[in-house]
Amino acid sequence: MPTDADRSPRSDCLFCRIARGELPSQVVVDDEDLMAFHDIAPRSPTHILIIPRAHIPSAADLTEDDGPLLGRLFATAARIAREQGIADAGYRIVSNVGRWGGQTVDHLHLHLMGGRAFSWPPG
Ligand code: 5GP
Ligand code: ZN
Repeated sequence: MPTDADRSPRSDCLFCRIARGELPSQVVVDDEDLMAFHDIAPRSPTHILIIPRAHIPSAADLTEDDGPLLGRLFATAARIAREQGIADAGYRIVSNVGRWGGQTVDHLHLHLMGGRAFSWPPG
């Protein structure tokens, strides 16, 4: 299903600005179509955000055409988890959507969290 949404970088979006290097971040991965950086307020010993460079507001805005991009986002998360040494113990990948989902930045991101055990379900 094609998308006609405008996904170009937005000057009013925090993560677009980080992706463009206009705001500083602790970069972990800097690829052509995605980026990973440390969360500014980590909730676990390892807490890294993985974002597409394209401005996609949330997981609710993905289409079937985004399959390859999603594959790269998750494969990058898995690679970072190995590199950070959290893969063997296990970790959590989360993408919050909307107000009740706990989303505070309206640019799609995966939280890669590890280094401790997590409870289920989330609070
Ligand atoms: P959300 O609440 O939308 O699921 O996740 C947004 C995340 O972005 C939060 O975990 C928050 O700590 C992080 N965050 C907010 N502002 C910044 C920032 O300026 N830099 C970085 N690196 N992370 C941020
Ligand atoms: Zn954005």
